Amino acid sequence: MKKIVTATEGKRDYRRVLEDKRQGVLSGLGIKFDTLAKMGRVAEEDQAQITHDEFVALRLNRLDYVQLRMIEEALDRLNSGDYGICLACEQPIPEKRLNAVPWARYCVACQETVGAEMDEESREASLRQPVGVRD
Ligand SMILES: [Zn+2]
Repeated sequence: MKKIVTATEGKRDYRRVLEDKRQGVLSGLGIKFDTLAKMGRVAEEDQAQITHDEFVALRLNRLDYVQLRMIEEALDRLNSGDYGICLACEQPIPEKRLNAVPWARYCVACQETVGAEMDEESREASLRQPVGVRD
């Protein structure tokens, strides 16, 4: 039996990866929105009562927004055919990096130049670190 080789064979389906990731972030945000709504009712003078967990949840919420935006941008680039091209040096981003960070906008070298703020890999790593629950 002859195998039909398609153009995408052997390559990861980044669109699916990104859409799955977006779905995951969205459902994560859904949970955190509850926390946000709850906090909206907290009066200014009671803010000291906001627990550490809630504070962390809010911070992660913001990071989720950033990630969501990056995922959306990556999907836009997939649509326009610019996906996998470094926004700074316009060289192809290595597949290994795209596998690790499907929404990467820069190659590793340019990422370092752009700085830690936009470094989604180090941010991911920091999210995986245990949050200091022991006060
Ligand atoms: Zn680059």
